[in-house]
Amino acid sequence: MSYTEEVYARVVSQNPGEPEFHQAVKEVLESLQVVIDKNEEEYRKLSILERLVEPERIISFRVPWVDDKGVVQVNKGYRVQFNSAIGPYKGGLRFHPSVNQSILKFLGFEQIFKNSLTGLPIGGGKGGSNFDPKGKSDREVMAFCQSFMTELSKYIGADQDVPAGDIGVGGREIGYLYGEYKRIKGLYEGVLTGKGLTWGGSLIRTQATGYGVVYMLDEIAKAHNDSIEGKTAVVTGSGNVAIYAVEKITELGAKVVAMCDSNGYVYDPDGIKLDIVKDIKEVKRGRIKEYADRVEGAVYTEGKGIWNIKCDVYLPCATQNELDLDGAKTLVANGCKYVAEGANMPTTLEGTTYLQENGVYFMPGKAANAGGVATSALEMTQNSMRLSWSAEEVDEKLHGIMKDIFKKVDDAAKRYGLDDNYVVGANIAGFEKVVDAMKAQGIV
Ligand code: NDP
Repeated sequence: MSYTEEVYARVVSQNPGEPEFHQAVKEVLESLQVVIDKNEEEYRKLSILERLVEPERIISFRVPWVDDKGVVQVNKGYRVQFNSAIGPYKGGLRFHPSVNQSILKFLGFEQIFKNSLTGLPIGGGKGGSNFDPKGKSDREVMAFCQSFMTELSKYIGADQDVPAGDIGVGGREIGYLYGEYKRIKGLYEGVLTGKGLTWGGSLIRTQATGYGVVYMLDEIAKAHNDSIEGKTAVVTGSGNVAIYAVEKITELGAKVVAMCDSNGYVYDPDGIKLDIVKDIKEVKRGRIKEYADRVEGAVYTEGKGIWNIKCDVYLPCATQNELDLDGAKTLVANGCKYVAEGANMPTTLEGTTYLQENGVYFMPGKAANAGGVATSALEMTQNSMRLSWSAEEVDEKLHGIMKDIFKKVDDAAKRYGLDDNYVVGANIAGFEKVVDAMKAQGIV
């Protein structure tokens, strides 16, 4: 058994019932094989991989709150502080009924490599709760957020751990969380990112993940003497990442013909009208189905299957494992050429391999969606410096960071003779910096 196989077997046996975490570790370890082979003795002696796959700590806590009927509800809260070798823990908070330790460990593990790829000094972490903000009143969301922060505030800080948003955590939730932190600690510090513009937030943070995905896609296309202009695209999800990916890719001349939510998908052959999606999702907090009621010629289909819509570019921006092998086969059969992951691990391992083996340029989430956390790190910088950069300045920095990530990923793949294998490139480039720091800091 190779060292990476041994460590993977150990992860499976020591972390039972955590399939998403196993999946994320498997992808990374398989990619690292070529690097480990060169230095196996040293890595084994230092137990580098055993340390890398074990979170520095996991905080798990009770979150009691009172609903609008006066009934006490209890949710689970977590923060996974995975790796602080290159900076304070940084990663989002997810509020969704599916949240459990496995999902947060997979997200925290991915975050280590993603944050490293940004070139900024941020370590990997992730947190959240099985609380579902959907259908809750503003007062209920506030009550939950205040209770969640009462406990979480003991473990975070501007130089310690800086959470942000993720699924189910947008500007409203960050506001309630920040208010409670400030009240408990008496500190006006950059402890959360994704803040509002009047209280320490950064311009372009809302758009950053989606814009970044498209900046990355642009780099991949250019590297293959191609361009986004004139392409037909499908973007999954209709949340924060999806909306701003659609905005930027449309600006660069592509036509987006389909989007979805967890209930179904809409197909608009004339091109998705983003102002209507924004109104449904950002203003009314409604369902994507309403798009077909409002736009003539648009068709709504209940359930999964958005990948059946023919496209050149597919941007999965909803959730983990949304695109499986069958979906990947359909994309290839329909001539899709590019997949860049806006969501975290939205493609299964089998789906990823199939796409890569069938000529699709595939960029994994840890590189393609890193623009969000990178801009969060720029928000931290602005908070520390007590100033605000203009939208143009932040966008330019974001664009530069995405170009740089592409270069690092592309170079790492080429160094190992695996041209265009961006999965391997991203994992290796992310790993090298973290391991260098871990080695320098001794056995901690
Ligand atoms: P949002 O909560 O804003 O949006 C999520 C979207 O995905 C919603 O439209 C949701 O639909 C849809 N969705 C969720 N589950 C499914 C499903 N099973 N099938 C189809 N659609 C589904 O989250 P974000 O846009 O912030 O995050 C999306 C992804 O991007 C996540 O994987 C997240 O980890 C990742 N990401 C986010 C970053 C950010 O800055 N926000 C940064 C980097 C990565 P519904 O409303 O029905 O639930």
